[in-house]
Amino acid sequence: MDNFQETTFRDRPSTFGKDGKRVWLFPKMPKGKLYNIRRIIAWTLLTFFYLAPFLKINGDPLIFLNFLQRKFVLFGTTFYPQDFHLLVLAIITLVVFIVLFTVIYGRVFCGWVCPQTVFMEFLYRPIEYLIDGNAEQQKELAAQDADAIKILKRILKHSIYMFISFFTIITFVSYVTGTDKLGEIINSWPQERFGLLMGVIAFTGVHYFVFGWFREQVCTVVCPYGRLQGVMLDVNTILVAYDYKRGEPRRNAELRRSEHGDCINCFNCVDVCPTGIDIRNGTQLECINCTSCIDACNSVMKRVKKPSGLIRFASEKSISEGKRVKFNARVIAYSAVLIALLTLMIYLFTVRGDVETSINRSPGTMFQEYGQDHYSNLYNLQMVNKTNSDVSIELKLLSPEGEILLMGDSLKTEKGEVANRNLLVVLKKETLKSSNSHLEIGIFENGIMIDKISTSFVGPNSLDGKK
Ligand code: SF4
Ligand code: SF4
Repeated sequence: MDNFQETTFRDRPSTFGKDGKRVWLFPKMPKGKLYNIRRIIAWTLLTFFYLAPFLKINGDPLIFLNFLQRKFVLFGTTFYPQDFHLLVLAIITLVVFIVLFTVIYGRVFCGWVCPQTVFMEFLYRPIEYLIDGNAEQQKELAAQDADAIKILKRILKHSIYMFISFFTIITFVSYVTGTDKLGEIINSWPQERFGLLMGVIAFTGVHYFVFGWFREQVCTVVCPYGRLQGVMLDVNTILVAYDYKRGEPRRNAELRRSEHGDCINCFNCVDVCPTGIDIRNGTQLECINCTSCIDACNSVMKRVKKPSGLIRFASEKSISEGKRVKFNARVIAYSAVLIALLTLMIYLFTVRGDVETSINRSPGTMFQEYGQDHYSNLYNLQMVNKTNSDVSIELKLLSPEGEILLMGDSLKTEKGEVANRNLLVVLKKETLKSSNSHLEIGIFENGIMIDKISTSFVGPNSLDGKK
């Protein structure tokens, strides 16, 4: 822990030694209220991730991301390429949401719900504690020469890691193929779909490398979101912070007891930190706001009979002014924008039609005489059924008065299918006042109008001089 007493945090990440080599971390297992809440959240997310492909609504998986067929199912709602605008909007909303959320509440996402942290701290790390023992035992094991026990432990741990990595990648594949198809695919290995098998092996290797070896360096060195913290945080941002006003000067052999702040320099907050930093040095980009140091310090404060919260969620401003963190106008305004964005997203997804219909005049066609008293125009109709059941629609000409003649079968479309038909619109000659008239066609399902489409009807140019 020597480097934490120095000021090296200003010069290099906590996981790099003086010689530039990796400093392997052995964080202690956190204990405390916040860690228990994080564990519940993490296990809920992991359970959801591994079970979601098996859970079905109306025969479709809960989440289905078939990029090849360009079909996506989210919680029973099917999305098609026609819904691309919703996807773009969702991504923009998400980016704005993350930026605003980070400005107000710091990097909470990283420590609480980011897959990197969830997998690392609540799946891979607990297995390590189970096999290699606590942080001290892990350190000893790493330092000792290889003997039968060490080799056995290493083989066991890394075999489990590899199995979890393989299982995780297979789960990802099932999000794309569906679980039924996944069974067929696996049964056909290795003779068929060799490319997919190689892909699964390669991604399993990457996953194993990240969680078995690379670990916290994803957050401290690679992740762009982590790197962006410098421009998103300011003195009002609420984050995991050490109250230096209360804590300093730290206990030190040369100081008389009465001169001490509340920090007893026990290093418990450093020992539990998964990124190896000392939060007492102030906010650092390696801090993922996991709150393990809050739990650790609170338990120390309890033991030394001091109030909890020496490390707590606070803004730099609130600490420097010695006040409790306040929800000021800026926080309330940003939170209101966040709520408005989410509401807009939910609204747009809710009002998305289950059946999308478009009617356009057939390219290159003009009007035709239809009998003695009528003109007709030819149209192409496309209908996308985005529901999980078959849909039949009817068309009615709302204005002007006239007739729609459908060519081919009735307008029944199976779930998830796209139907294309041709149709004729027939209008009385006397109805037309110009060579280009406005048409409104109603789309009805079970007698209820679900959409109204506007298009044009062309007639002879001679009509334009009639007025
Ligand atoms: S400083 Fe505290 S909150 Fe930040 S990563 Fe380390 S333990 Fe987690
Ligand atoms: S756990 Fe608390 S008391 Fe111990 S070193 Fe960290 S801040 Fe100081």
